[in-house]
This record gives sequence, C-alpha cells and structure tokens, in this order.
Amino acid sequence: MTRIVVLGAGVSGHTAAAFLNRWLGKDAAVTVISPNPDYNWLPSNIWVGLGRMAPKDVLVPLAPIYERVGIEFKQARALGIFPHGSAALDKPHVEIESTGDKQPGTRELVAYDFLINATGPKLQFEATEGLGPAGHSLSVCTADHAEHTAKVFFSHIQAMKAGARRRFVIGTGHGTCTCEGAAFEYAVNLEFELRRHGVRDKAEVIYLSNEYVLGDFGMGGAYIRRNGYNTPINIFTESLFAERGIDWILRSHVQKVEASRLWYKNLDGEEHELPFDMAMLLPPFSGVGLKAYDRSGADITHRLFAPNGFMRVDADYSPKPFQQWSAQDWPRVYQSPEFSNIFAAGIAFAPPHAISTPRTTKDGTPIFPAPPRTGMPSASIGKAVARSIRDSIEGKPAPLHAASMAEMGAACIASTGTGLLRGSAASMTVFPIVPDFERYREYGRDLSLTAGEIGLAGHWIKHLLHYMFLYKARLRPGWAAIPE
Ligand SMILES: Cc1cc2nc3c(=O)[nH]c(=O)nc-3n(C[C@H](O)[C@H](O)[C@H](O)COP(=O)(O)OP(=O)(O)OC[C@H]3O[C@@H](n4cnc5c(N)ncnc54)[C@H](O)[C@@H]3O)c2cc1C
Repeated sequence: MTRIVVLGAGVSGHTAAAFLNRWLGKDAAVTVISPNPDYNWLPSNIWVGLGRMAPKDVLVPLAPIYERVGIEFKQARALGIFPHGSAALDKPHVEIESTGDKQPGTRELVAYDFLINATGPKLQFEATEGLGPAGHSLSVCTADHAEHTAKVFFSHIQAMKAGARRRFVIGTGHGTCTCEGAAFEYAVNLEFELRRHGVRDKAEVIYLSNEYVLGDFGMGGAYIRRNGYNTPINIFTESLFAERGIDWILRSHVQKVEASRLWYKNLDGEEHELPFDMAMLLPPFSGVGLKAYDRSGADITHRLFAPNGFMRVDADYSPKPFQQWSAQDWPRVYQSPEFSNIFAAGIAFAPPHAISTPRTTKDGTPIFPAPPRTGMPSASIGKAVARSIRDSIEGKPAPLHAASMAEMGAACIASTGTGLLRGSAASMTVFPIVPDFERYREYGRDLSLTAGEIGLAGHWIKHLLHYMFLYKARLRPGWAAIPE
C-alpha cells in the first residue's frame, strides 16, 4: 500500500490529507505529522485577540477527526528528511520527535512513498530584539498568543474606563515581514472594540508597517476601478484609516522593542523612538528548519531548501533584477526539482521573489514586505498537490495539477463587530495575487476581479467563512463540496 506522509496539519496540510484519504481510500495510508493536537483556523485569531471569541472557537482537535476517517495522526515535530533512506531504514523516510503527552521527545523514523511538506512558517520573533510574547510585544499568530493578547487588551480597557489614556501600536515587527493583512485587520477590529467599550476618545491607534504605501500587503498594492476611475488601493485603505482615526507610520523596520517603547528605522535612514502601552507586532516568517540528509548521513539541506528554510519547488529561483521578474517564475505544481515524490504546499514552499518592490535603506537594511501567504492559495495548493499524488498512484500520465499564485486571486476581509446588523467590513480582492504584466498589461491584474468595498456584506461573508471552514476542517458530511 502506498504511504503518504503529510508534515503539518494547517490549512494546506489538513486539506491535502483529507482529500487524499477521501480519494484513495484503502489504496493508500495517509499519515499526518504535526506538533499541535489541534487545527487552528488562523484568520479568526483576530477575534480571539480582542476577546470576541475563545480559543475553543478557532481550534479543532485533530485526533478524533482523523480516527473517524482513517487517517493516522502522530503528534510530533518533523526534524529531518532522508529522501534516499538511511543506514537505519532502507526507504525514504522522515525523522520525527514526539510532542504528545505520551513520551515527549521520543524519536521515530516514518517511511513514505510520497511526502508533502506543509509545515507553514516559523514565527521568527528572535529577528528583532524584544519582539513577541516572550519579549515586550504581543501577537495573534497562535490561539494561545491571541488569548494572552486579549487579556492585555482588556486590562487597558479597564484602565481607560478609569480615565487613563493609552497608545496602541499595531503592525509589523521587522522590515521583512509579510501578513500585513492580518495586522491591518487587527487594527480596524481593535479600533471598533475601543468604540464599543466607549473609550475611543482615550486611545491613540497607530498602524506601523514595512509597506511603502498603505494597502501594499506584500502584493505591491493594486488598482481598483471605482466610479470609472482606476484608483490605487492606498486611496481606499488611507480613507478607511482616516475615517476611523487610525494613524499610520510606513516604510519602517522595527529594530528593538522594550517594555513600553520601541525603536524603528525608516527607508530614509531616520531612527525614531515610539512609546506605546500595547503593541501587537507580527514577526517575520522563515521555514521551520527541516534538515535533509543523504543515505550516508551527509547534510543535503541546501538541495531541498532555500537559505530561508522554505522548500525549493518548480519555481525559477535564478537571481534577476526586479524589473525582469515575471509571473512565470512562480511555481505551478510545487514538486521538489530534486525528488519527484516530495512536494511543498502552502507557506512551506520558497517563493521565487518578492512581489512588492524591494527597497533598502542607504546602509542596506531591507524594508519591504515579503510575498503574502494567504489561506485560499494555501488550501488550493494543498488540494492540487493531493490531486497530483492521487493521479500518480492511479498511474495517470502527467501533467501534474497546477495551482499557481499567478493564476489565482486572494481576498482580505477586515470585518469588525459581531451580530447580523451591527458589523462592517472592508473587503479587498485581487486577481491574480502575483501580477502578470504579460496578460494584464497596464496594472498586472484583472480589474474586473480586483475590488475594494466597505459594508455589511463583507462582514456576513467573513462570519460565514468562519463557520464554513471550521465545518470543513471537522470533515463533517459534505465537507468536500465546500470550496477552498
Ligand atoms: C492572525 C492571522 C490571520 C490571518 N488571516 C487570514 C485571512 O483573513 N485570510 C487569509 O486568506 N489568510 C489569513 N492568514 C494566513 C493563513 O492563515 C495562512 O495562509 C495559512 O494558515 C497557511 O497555511 P499552511 O498550511 O501553509 O500553514 P499553517 O496553517 O501555519 O500550518 C502549518 C502546520 O505545520 C505544523 N508544523 C510546524 N512545524 C512543523 C514540523 N516541524 N513538523 C510537522 N508539522 C509542523 C504546524 O503546527 C501547523 O499545523 C492569517 C494568518 C494569521 C497568522
């Protein structure tokens, strides 16, 4: 029986494992290896981080689901890949270390015929001194982080109700961060909650980001067609912030965070100090640090992984000036060029280049967003990789299934409030994520599918997505019909 091992049970790994198990049934054994016992629907961590939801609302225990559908689950962290086998096991395998309650730290070798690396990002708080929950800033990148952040937020609400003033700084904690959409969404939600608690007049809210313009989101911004005009998206995002009294500081790299103050440098090379009462700052991402070894035990990590720890796939990684980068450089099938039975899905694959224009300070500090790694592409890539493996097992001829980020769109819905009638959302969609200036000559994007709207409809959609995707993650009846 064919053995398929999936590393990671996030959006892309869980999707890939669930479809492979459904399509292949008893013809394949699917094993999922992931260090946490739960699936986390990360987009809703925003609401956990403001106390509007509890961690249990965004977490789904994996073991009972996998037991029900017949997927093997090992609560463990993958350490290394041995694509040729090793002296200890004569087949391709991974080495894992248990993180479960029973015998944590125990190591095991798990053989595979096909391997999907869907390990997502390492949250690199250590890239900036004092950044992160172990330092002096907060995060919503895990449900635990978000729960802690909500507690701190409530302590400030109480202080403001007692008359104190507070400054909230939300944004990116390093010049090379991605996921600006999540920080943006947290900022507008926090501002909404301040009004809901009746303390808006006591608070200053500042969005601090590595973006060159507001609304860049690591995609180099976008143009949207409004009232017959093709308008840069920063007009939309700036007016949204202006209307809500949110200030913004852009083109910035946070250098150091201390209790109640941080230091940042901007593209002009100026260094500034910014006192705060609460700072929610995202970390930069890297790969999770998987290693690879040949049969003799020699380190071949560089053959499988880029220096940032993300896995090399079928992208064009040759170094080129920014003006020569193209949509065609982006991967389509996410297969390792070295080993045809290894794939990387979701955030785990190495992007070929930035989408936002790379910029540095005079002394060489990079300050520009890394490419966005959003949920819909991650799930779509997971499903495409699963299809390719299914076809390969069933003996169908190539080609493999494609899910290029240059051929799919993304949506960012910053929804505030709860309830059917009181919410509002800023909804932005772009198509494609990676601009393609050969197909869409003027703006690189299809303006009929690139939009920005504010209103109740986006708020409903965001809530609907929360329930729909958690239903899907639970693999309840009909789950496969829910789109990625
Ligand atoms: C706060 C926040 C809000 C967001 N909001 C949105 C949004 O509104 N819309 C949107 O489209 N996207 C959003 N995103 C991005 C979206 O969540 C990601 O694109 C998506 O989760 C990526 O899926 P993934 O499977 O690649 O990684 P993840 O979902 O991070 O999953 C990675 C998995 O790998 C596991 N893992 C880690 N290390 C190892 C190891 N060594 N061995 C085995 N397993 C390992 C992890 O435990 C996890 O299960 C948001 C992200 C955050 C942090």
